[in-house]
Amino acid sequence: MYEPVIGMEVHVELNTASKMFCGCNAEAFGTPPNCHVCPVCLGMPGTLPVINEQAVRYTVMTGLALNCAIQAHNVFARKNYFYPDLPKGYQISQYELPLCRDGCLEIEVGETGSQGGEGEPRLVRIRRVHLEEDTGKLMHVDGHSLVDFNRAGVPLMEIVSEADIRSAEEAYAYVTRLRQLVRYLGVSSGDMEKGAMRCEVNLSLRPVGSEEFGTKVEVKNLNSFRSMRNAIAYEIERQAHVLEAGEPVHQVTMGWDEAAGVTREQRSKEEAHDYRYFPEPDLPPLSLEPAWIEGVRATLPELPQAKRDRFVAEYGLSRYDANVLVEDQAVADYFEQAVRVAGEALNPKLIANWVTGELFRLMNEDGIVITEVKVESEDLVALIEMVQAGAINQPAAKKTFSVMWETGRPPREIVEEMGLKQIADADELTGVVAQVIADNPDAVASFNAGKETSIRFLIGQVMKVTRGKANPQLAEQLLREQLGSEG
Ligand SMILES: [Zn+2]
Repeated sequence: MYEPVIGMEVHVELNTASKMFCGCNAEAFGTPPNCHVCPVCLGMPGTLPVINEQAVRYTVMTGLALNCAIQAHNVFARKNYFYPDLPKGYQISQYELPLCRDGCLEIEVGETGSQGGEGEPRLVRIRRVHLEEDTGKLMHVDGHSLVDFNRAGVPLMEIVSEADIRSAEEAYAYVTRLRQLVRYLGVSSGDMEKGAMRCEVNLSLRPVGSEEFGTKVEVKNLNSFRSMRNAIAYEIERQAHVLEAGEPVHQVTMGWDEAAGVTREQRSKEEAHDYRYFPEPDLPPLSLEPAWIEGVRATLPELPQAKRDRFVAEYGLSRYDANVLVEDQAVADYFEQAVRVAGEALNPKLIANWVTGELFRLMNEDGIVITEVKVESEDLVALIEMVQAGAINQPAAKKTFSVMWETGRPPREIVEEMGLKQIADADELTGVVAQVIADNPDAVASFNAGKETSIRFLIGQVMKVTRGKANPQLAEQLLREQLGSEG
């Protein structure tokens, strides 16, 4: 039996207004090629870079959120290699002195492997978080290779974990948590499909119980969560076969071939680049004052796990429900806004059930996010209050909600207009109940013979006659009264 040992390198494009070392617009996705470029990011001779303070701030925010130590003394370095998408012939990065180091991130792997999972929390140690500039992009068109430098110089944050991850599921949980974190912090969109977040995996196997590491293989080109999970699962199996055959695993860089569903060797480590790092002579060392770092810390929002724990403590939610609600900050805000509006009137759990139930169901069906939902949280509260007060029953509430969903109108109007108001008045319902008893002698007979379930059938008939508007508890009570008096 083998145990996978996995470390991750995640690159995150920061959503600053301008690039890392020049004033060019940093929006690189979906823009016409080479429209956001200048002499600095094109690497013209004689130009000088200037550090983007916002990018440093965003990286420090991320480091603090990952419980890292922030380094006061920082140096940018040149990482030398030649590639057509690298206009300067080197990349400005950090090497010996990253901005942040020695942090950790808590992950949870549930039975379904989803974020809402309720598994054992585990800590993945973070080795470093550093700042660098992105490269340009090559496009291959009709046998020609074209280069777009819009992305060259976009601030790129690299988050390197220790090899603490033990399965594809844990890798998925780790990257999902990181994405959630950068979104909460507002430092990146975290969109993998737009290349704003890209990950690489290094993976080795070792016999279960062994402390020594095996030979690791790097896997690149993981452009979606799905590719990442599939590539890891594939590579675990491939290495296990190699080891079982008594062969050595070679230290290589692999690429994930999404179409074929396999990893392919890109280059062996023997020909790996020697980057000849040296301190960037055009940039002074970057010193961060403790007061500045504390100022950044003070701007951190409430982070997902703290929010989850607060939802459990303050609102009595299950850890699972709390995890589901804090997954997206905007959903958490929507829920809390509803809780505030409801005040003492509603149990927050009822609101949580509606948000994670009907609201999520329709969001999934229509493929929209919470900010696009037309139902105001105030109106959701009004609807739940109507159910609570017995003004409408559960099926009528769902009907009303679907109209609210389409139109954004308040529930009272809709209930009035559609005549969904529940019949909770005994006088009004007594006649219906008598009629149902008269029309269903068989069910009445079987109830009187002791078949308790027949009462459900009779309640169903009352609901049918009233077109779903009867209060089912009242219908049952009246049925029992009338049947009892007959017997
Ligand atoms: Zn530029």
